[in-house]
Amino acid sequence: MARYTDSQCRLCRREGQKLFLKGDRCYSDKCSFAKRPAAPGQHGATAKKTNSNYGVQLREKQKVRRIYGVLEGQYARCFAMAEKMPGMAGENFLSLLERRLDNVVFRMGFANSRNQARQLVNHGHFMVNGHKVDIPSYIIEAGDTVSVRERSANGAFFTSIKEGAKKTTPAWVAVDYEKLEGKVVTLPKREDIDFDVQENLIVEWYSK
Ligand code: SF4
Repeated sequence: MARYTDSQCRLCRREGQKLFLKGDRCYSDKCSFAKRPAAPGQHGATAKKTNSNYGVQLREKQKVRRIYGVLEGQYARCFAMAEKMPGMAGENFLSLLERRLDNVVFRMGFANSRNQARQLVNHGHFMVNGHKVDIPSYIIEAGDTVSVRERSANGAFFTSIKEGAKKTTPAWVAVDYEKLEGKVVTLPKREDIDFDVQENLIVEWYSK
């Protein structure tokens, strides 16, 4: 399965802000963006920021795509799906991205970053409603239960999750860390998105 394999920190520098792609490291002194915030590349430090509509829409689209770690084709297909749903396309789009299994695993605190969540899902460590699912883009529904597979639960990583400090989870999920199991209580709404995003710019980008 195709995935982005270059430097994650480079993406933060390209977007001119911290995207929190590497878990705990992003909150430490080791964050590369804090040390070197200029855009990547030889002329990054002197590059001018674009103010054109095209440039602003492009940056917003890329920022959200990079936060969720989705490649271009899948991202565009997700937007097409959002457009067909009732309601506002931009809000539907963000909700669909939040409902991806890799993001739900991250939101439930079973992984330190979306990248790590994606890898854990790919490696078959999770079940949805009691069935193994190893597709990171799987869309979760309200009422679904996500749990760590029994054979994975006793491994060092999930033992540390069970015994470690419990994470703050969003209101739309409820997690039982003892059982390594979480439930999607309701579908995520616009107000559950915890980073700054102007989804209207993404809608405008795809409406050209
Ligand atoms: Fe971005 Fe800093 Fe995290 Fe690297 S460590 S991904 S620069 S927030």
